[in-house]
Amino acid sequence: MSALMQVSPLDPLAYRSDFPILSREVRPGVPLIYFDNAASTQHPREVIQSMVRCYEEHYANVHRGIHQLAQESDELFDQAREKVRAFINAPQREQCIFTYGATSGINIVARSWGDANLKPGDEILLTEMEHHANLVPWQQLAERSGAVLRHIPLTEDGLLQLDALDTLLTERTKLVAFVAISNVLGTINPVGEIIRRGHQAGALVLLDGAQSVPHQKTDVQALDVDFLVFSGHKMLGPSGVGVLYGKRELLEAMPPFLGGGGMIRRVRLDSFEPGDLPAKFEAGTPPIVSAIGLGAAIDYLNRIGMDAIAHHERLLVTRAHAILEKIEGLRILGPTPEYKAGIVSFSLDQIHAHDVAEVLDRSGIAIRAGHHCAMPLHNRYNVGATARASFYLYNTLAEVEQLAPGLDAAKRVFHRKRNFG
Ligand code: PLP
Repeated sequence: MSALMQVSPLDPLAYRSDFPILSREVRPGVPLIYFDNAASTQHPREVIQSMVRCYEEHYANVHRGIHQLAQESDELFDQAREKVRAFINAPQREQCIFTYGATSGINIVARSWGDANLKPGDEILLTEMEHHANLVPWQQLAERSGAVLRHIPLTEDGLLQLDALDTLLTERTKLVAFVAISNVLGTINPVGEIIRRGHQAGALVLLDGAQSVPHQKTDVQALDVDFLVFSGHKMLGPSGVGVLYGKRELLEAMPPFLGGGGMIRRVRLDSFEPGDLPAKFEAGTPPIVSAIGLGAAIDYLNRIGMDAIAHHERLLVTRAHAILEKIEGLRILGPTPEYKAGIVSFSLDQIHAHDVAEVLDRSGIAIRAGHHCAMPLHNRYNVGATARASFYLYNTLAEVEQLAPGLDAAKRVFHRKRNFG
């Protein structure tokens, strides 16, 4: 029996009523089928309430105020950080920096560690399946430092070509930065192996966990990863908060990136001493209430269990593949379901992905269309845009079944248009 089969199944119907938005109709008589989870997920009532409660009863700025509300907000904020720590099994909570999302976490590492450590000729190894968030900051760093970017190529079916590591990893490689789960292909990368190979070459490793931390168990100590970034809004939490985890000795050696209040120990007119972790990387007022909401989201996910969530999404994506593969003219980008998470991107005949999304929206089905912030990946597969359905714990097999009539309708509408002008 596979490890996934031993997990007790998750019944999405037991959770759907926790999410107020899932019971709304998109238009009268048209219920919402929300398949845009890779972009952002929806919120259970208790996450929303945790933030309402904070605003109504406890809210003040954090950073060690003396008055009662400041102390209560401090405590809630610290508790949220502790929940993050436990969720990813970080050794200490100071290693979990609150950011504004995965993008800002990557930019902190690029600006801080990158500017301090890279010199001309050093190499950063990325992959061809990265989100722009894990491409552009390194391109900017390469421009500033003279470092060179390399990329692990992809196979036709959306897997990383790991044999390329033999030549791509050299003593010049200073950082390997890659995505754990592709936001387009859904590919689950062999994270442990790539981290091990990166370390063997003497490089540090940054993992973009934006699509993995919300959907499967993450243990930064077992992975031995140097940096991990992720976003609250992709895991039932609010937007405007994310996390940068880093190994303590690395974070301590790194200069702060943003300067301002909260991140200092002492300031004189012409100089400053940075504060301790995590304050050193949290200049200005942090995302207080969003972090508290993220903590509530983590509580909710923990109660369901990350293995159960991963298992459920595997069932959904397997069914989605079975349905989509029967549709003539439909091309799925990425590997077969056993190698992927709950994301399926596809193109359909000559119909533009935006048109596919628009017709599906008429049936209440919310998907994403475009390049999903991964233009180089789309270039690799010679498609300008794809339609993407992405699932979460509250989606049902019955909802996935609705893709078939929805896509049939798209074909009918656009073939009629093409034939009759
Ligand atoms: N990395 C991946 C793989 C993503 O899917 C995303 C968002 O879609 C990001 C990074 C950026 O996340 P955010 O926009 O929350 O910073």
